[in-house]
Amino acid sequence: MTKWDTRFLGLAAYISAWSKDPSSQVGAVITDGNRIISLGYNGFAAGVEDKQERLGDRDCKLNLTIHAEENAMIFAKRDLTGCTVYVTHPPCPRCASKLIQEEVGRIVYIAPSGDFLSRWADDLKLSSEMYREAGVEVTSYAMEEINHDNAQITIAPGGFFKKVMNLFLHSDD
Ligand SMILES: [Zn+2]
Repeated sequence: MTKWDTRFLGLAAYISAWSKDPSSQVGAVITDGNRIISLGYNGFAAGVEDKQERLGDRDCKLNLTIHAEENAMIFAKRDLTGCTVYVTHPPCPRCASKLIQEEVGRIVYIAPSGDFLSRWADDLKLSSEMYREAGVEVTSYAMEEINHDNAQITIAPGGFFKKVMNLFLHSDD
């Protein structure tokens, strides 16, 4: 696993926690080489209220939610030809279609859990077929590979990374 793939998947995972969705949190990072072009997480459009009644109603939530990949594409506001998209989950067919149409060159995601796979098997198969037909390169990594050794990040004992992360991560489950 390359250093940059690890770093950007780690960043996507970090960003996923910004989602207010109580059941599904997805983060996405779009890069051009090693340069970050855009970030996104799943949620309602800016200004649209995250009311409990909306988040709690599945159909309503699905209708209002912009997927992480979609948000990242919208905010990129530029040509994404040849870019790489890092996502915490395998993209759904609707996002896969849009990513293909944006002519991204590569999609990288964290391999989903068995539970996720079984729930979304048909959708994921459809996305994979589309990537193959359209010639988009796909890479998936096991979650365990997203670690600080592979990312080659320096976690200095008294450094800001550790101090700030300790403030963010109050539990280690
Ligand atoms: Zn999607």
